[in-house]
Amino acid sequence: MSDDFDYDLFVIGGGSGGVRAARVAASEYGAKVALAEESRYGGTCVIRGCVPKKLMVFASEYRDTFRDAASYGWDVQDGPFDWTKFSKKMRGELDRLEGIYRNLLKNAGVETFDCRATVKDAHTVALSSGEEKTAKHILVATGGHPVRPPDLENAELGIVSDDIFNLERLPKSMLIVGGGYIACEFACILHGLGVEVTMYFRKAQILQGFDDEARGLIAEQMRARGIAMHAGAIIAEMDQADGGIRVKSTQGQETVFDQVFFATGRKPNTDGLGLEELGVKLGRGGAVEVDEYSQTAVPSIYAIGDVTDRVNLTPVAIREGMAFTSTVFGSDPTPVDHELVPSAVFTQPEMGTVGKTEEECEADGDDFEIYATTFKPMQTAFAGREDRVLMKLIVARESRRVLGCHIVAPQAGEMIQMVGIAIKMGATKEQFDATCAVHPTMAEEMVTMRNPVRTS
Ligand code: NDP
Repeated sequence: MSDDFDYDLFVIGGGSGGVRAARVAASEYGAKVALAEESRYGGTCVIRGCVPKKLMVFASEYRDTFRDAASYGWDVQDGPFDWTKFSKKMRGELDRLEGIYRNLLKNAGVETFDCRATVKDAHTVALSSGEEKTAKHILVATGGHPVRPPDLENAELGIVSDDIFNLERLPKSMLIVGGGYIACEFACILHGLGVEVTMYFRKAQILQGFDDEARGLIAEQMRARGIAMHAGAIIAEMDQADGGIRVKSTQGQETVFDQVFFATGRKPNTDGLGLEELGVKLGRGGAVEVDEYSQTAVPSIYAIGDVTDRVNLTPVAIREGMAFTSTVFGSDPTPVDHELVPSAVFTQPEMGTVGKTEEECEADGDDFEIYATTFKPMQTAFAGREDRVLMKLIVARESRRVLGCHIVAPQAGEMIQMVGIAIKMGATKEQFDATCAVHPTMAEEMVTMRNPVRTS
């Protein structure tokens, strides 16, 4: 296929989506493939996102475990936590995973270039090493990066999520700006590791877009754990102060924090890639506009993952990569299915969610019933904690199909993966009810909620 080109496929970006597409195109379809990565292989998820974040979640949860242990008869010391020891081990693990990603590409026969690549024309990629390579297809999988508030003076004094994994020491106090996934997850992690955490977010509630009842319960428990949460708060001024960063909020509070962390959203990595000049359309925030097959306005150029700003989750980027290879190399046009994607927010307590929220059902005028229960789970209640969990199903009244499921509980991410299968299959409430409970578990409530708590 590559007679007139150096490669059948040139992938720009060695994150989860790009690596999967390159590997599958080469090993399953026999394509001649190259990939360029300017930073580290594994991308945001493996190097500065999901993976190190989850290791930090595990580290931070031990504080509660140690405290609860006493109630279960153990004599265990609570701390202190050694960040230097943990972060060294965490970085070692990331090095190991990056090595695996490199090997996967090597073993699949993908040629790699450790440098920046930009697009010169519809079939040519220019490398920062000075070389130019041609390819029948170009796949842009460059991901995104965290952004600070654009108009805030001295915003560079604050860190972003990329920096958190490389801190030399943990601060004593931290202001986290934002109320999204990253803000809430790190508020819980850092609080668990012993940092005094304050959050400023613009809206009345955290986790915009998630089910109100679920995010309300998470916010309540984050507050109860000691995280200072300021709704409707924005930084009006910030500057360097003795031993920290002085911040004045729009609500008039003036506080000195050791560190300020901006979790104020992410932007697709398209600056300077040369795409718009070629006729590739960029949309909101610079995201590459693609059709259902991830093809851009220039037919030889495709894009997948966060750079397209569709559903910014690693497993979705991987599926987009797989659908791209089936479409282009497998002669099997495969649209990407973005419906009913289950996901988790790794706050403490965790949230697992799939399908519609109650508010979305209301806005769409659905005729629905709500089945929900909240209770103190056995394990932490025994230890004297007040933590509550939420199990919630939204059911279409006529068809009986479960439209959405929202879980706030320890291990909610693990539970929603399983519930997600049933909901993707179109399960009805009666099919949930026909499934025998596993006792004693928290998840058994999913199949034992008899009567709706309210209807639309
Ligand atoms: P989000 O879009 O979730 O949240 C951004 C937050 O920053 C919002 O609260 C937003 O407020 C606020 N914000 C934006 N601009 C400003 C500003 N100028 N001043 C003050 N506040 C501001 O982005 P994240 O960065 O948290 O996460 C990015 C994406 O990464 C997520 O959408 C998700 O797809 C992915 N992700 C997934 C995870 C998971 O699956 N567990 C974990 C982490 C990330 P407002 O609501 O008012 O606009």
